Amino acid sequence: MADEAGPAGADETSVKEAWERVRRRLRAELGEDVFSSWFARLELAGILEGVAYLTVPTRFLKSWLEAHYAERLRLNCAAELPAPNGIILSVRQVARDAAAAPLAESALRSRAALSPAPVKTEATAAAAIPGAQPCERDSVDACGTALDRRMSFQSFVVGKSNQLAFAAAERIAAAPAGQSPYNPLYLHAGVGLGKTHLLQAIAQEARRQGKRVAYFTADRFMYGFVAALKSQTALAFKEKLRGIDLLVVDDVQFIQGKSIQQEFGHTINALLDAGKQIVVAGDRLAGELEALDERIRSRLGGGLVVEVGELDETLRATILGSRLEALQNAHPSFQVSPDVVAYVARVVATNGRDLDGAANRLLAHATLSGQLVTLETAEAAIRDLVRTREPRRVKIEDIQKLVATRYNVSRADILSERRTAAVVKPRQIAMYLAKSLTPRSLPEIGRRFGGRDHTTVLHAVRKIEKAIGEDRSLHDEVDLLKRMLQE
Ligand code: ADP
Ligand code: MG
Repeated sequence: MADEAGPAGADETSVKEAWERVRRRLRAELGEDVFSSWFARLELAGILEGVAYLTVPTRFLKSWLEAHYAERLRLNCAAELPAPNGIILSVRQVARDAAAAPLAESALRSRAALSPAPVKTEATAAAAIPGAQPCERDSVDACGTALDRRMSFQSFVVGKSNQLAFAAAERIAAAPAGQSPYNPLYLHAGVGLGKTHLLQAIAQEARRQGKRVAYFTADRFMYGFVAALKSQTALAFKEKLRGIDLLVVDDVQFIQGKSIQQEFGHTINALLDAGKQIVVAGDRLAGELEALDERIRSRLGGGLVVEVGELDETLRATILGSRLEALQNAHPSFQVSPDVVAYVARVVATNGRDLDGAANRLLAHATLSGQLVTLETAEAAIRDLVRTREPRRVKIEDIQKLVATRYNVSRADILSERRTAAVVKPRQIAMYLAKSLTPRSLPEIGRRFGGRDHTTVLHAVRKIEKAIGEDRSLHDEVDLLKRMLQE
């Protein structure tokens, strides 16, 4: 398995060469400037079970690449790397050099034996956990993923749908190490309902009380594991984490890859057996985390399981109110009347992310126009955040029909072998839309387009992507088709 993990492996050179080809493609497609700004520091950490683990040095770079180049990166990796199961992008540890590793590890071991541990060694202990960031002085982000101070218990608004989760989280953070009443805690909820907020609050409060905390998002956990495999001194993850009191893992549904899932399982088991606190959040019930081992699912499901429900209108209004208040501190002239707050809370979608978005829109609107926010301006500012029905599931058949109508060909033409320009372009657009709007894989899309090969679909997707980038009117046209399909 370590062989597979990357540059240290048997076919090291061929993977390295494939990675060079990915870089060359990106450079050719995007030009030297774009490439050197965004891709020069992108590295391949390794390939494990068909997943390519890519890393960048900063969180900003990661979100930028995800927002602007995710698809292009994915396609180019798919074309060259032996990684049929996709890519995972994470932030690599700063200044991780081989020489420092043994030192850091022994620090971790001695640290595990110390109790209570002197605060000064925390940075070194964290550095020994691959994927963990060393702790800066006065910084709360000692282990694993960085913590966001804004996500605290104080800033969490409690209502009916989350009071149980909040109470459990507070109890766990406050309980002396080893004496938590709920272990493990498994939180589940849909997107934007406060899971990450609560997990971060637990981690920060526990750390404030002197507990040793490791907080991981799923991708960070996976990267840490791959890094552990790569390093010659690869201790099992669970051993590296032995010295901690509390392990927090966010978005567990994204943990993928067989050996990583196994390692995750071992880690959870070992820590629970040693009486350490575990807090995990996911987007579904523990029993439905299909990828995880049955025993781990039941271990997670066997502790305290709490669902965070949809934010109701009152809760939305309070959260929005507190967001606006925070913005007002920085922009004293920004005023929003209570009826506008009530209106926005009533119509905006039920999750916290959209409320954040709405607050920012109101501020932008107010500062740009220099006017007070009225009901009318608020309505215009947040129009696209207004709660609608669930986004429609787009069907490939509908895409084919719409595109055929738009370009005056028949759906049969699109599925046929005909290669005249009048048919080829709509066919390629339809394939591109199928890839962008549905979760279907390339081979499946190929099958649904008259039994074509997945490379044909890939070619079409790339071609249209490129054309859209160069041709404004095609861009607008495809955009319109997208909107029509999603309405
Ligand atoms: P999740 O992890 O469940 O997808 P987050 O914790 O990231 O959701 O929440 C999304 C946004 O909404 C964050 O900015 C968070 O601070 C905010 N939020 C969600 N629930 C609450 C709450 N009860 N009180 C205050 N802010 C909240
Ligand atoms: Mg989250």
